[in-house]
Amino acid sequence: MPTALITGITGQDGQYLAEFLHTMDYKVYGMVRGQRNPKAEIIQRELPFVEMINGDLQDLSSLIATLEYCQPDEVYNLGAISFVALSFKQAELTADITGLGVLRLLEAIRLVGGPNNPIRFYQASSSEMFGKVRETPQNELTPFYPRSPYGTAKVFGHHTTVNYRESYDLYACSGILFNHESPRRGIEFVTRKITNAVARIKLGLQTEIVLGDLTPRRDWGFAGDYVKAMWAMLQQDEADDFVVATGETHSVSEFCQLAFEAAGIEDWERYIRQDERFMRPSEVDLLIGDPQKAKDKLGWTTEYGFRQLVQAMVENDLAIETANIGR
Ligand code: GDP
Repeated sequence: MPTALITGITGQDGQYLAEFLHTMDYKVYGMVRGQRNPKAEIIQRELPFVEMINGDLQDLSSLIATLEYCQPDEVYNLGAISFVALSFKQAELTADITGLGVLRLLEAIRLVGGPNNPIRFYQASSSEMFGKVRETPQNELTPFYPRSPYGTAKVFGHHTTVNYRESYDLYACSGILFNHESPRRGIEFVTRKITNAVARIKLGLQTEIVLGDLTPRRDWGFAGDYVKAMWAMLQQDEADDFVVATGETHSVSEFCQLAFEAAGIEDWERYIRQDERFMRPSEVDLLIGDPQKAKDKLGWTTEYGFRQLVQAMVENDLAIETANIGR
């Protein structure tokens, strides 16, 4: 039975990946930190086949102990401070967990793995590394220009992954994933914030959505499709890096418009209020990825289109909010 360890198991990608690996008969371990982590308790209920193990990306010896216990064939590093706005407020913590955490995990793999015990490694890199983009669309060779502490930490993680691959002959891949969303997305991200608010407006529980800048454009895909690319990267003959994206771009305001449409609400603009609080010190204006290499080499394709994604997220939030009213 192949064995996988996932850091960041409580996030949307961790959950989709765990389910996907489970369908392929993997034994799945999920690393969580902290005592009585409330998110971990929810995941344990929803994904009972995952064995939770305590470990922390800030603590090398805990990572070594985790690897020794799990003896994984594959490690997926999805754990990070992943919210860009928070990374501006907790820049040092972000550098430590999102950046140095990658180095610690690779060191642990180097120490516990080795020729007789090879461990394949996936690093969750991000389109935020392209930031103030140097070319459009962005591919694996596009230079990085991060615009946030999150982006700079991810660049460090990416280069460290490549460096460990080249220095120690580790099978280590960096997946440069563009924004990917789902009904499981955290409410702090703009997509879920919008779909949740639209559902609440539809049900008369809220009167407006307060947002920041509506002009940034993102290449938004479905998280369930993206975790399949992570797995595929670890099944190749040679480790490599891949951009994973839809190749389409939409603005925050387009997302709003479609979300309101999905709930059957017209003149959406009257429900939007903008506030400085949600503006960022520096912004990533336009992200659009070129997934050709992932399509050619991994045979990766998307099953969910943008409209379908927005619709599914709105429907999910309508169901949740309706159930809450009944409670
Ligand atoms: P990111 O691409 O990882 O930063 O994902 P987010 O979902 O947090 O943000 C996507 C874009 O939406 C960014 O350019 C934000 O500046 C913009 N945005 C506008 N209003 C909001 C808001 O209220 N919350 C969030 N999270 N983002 C917003």
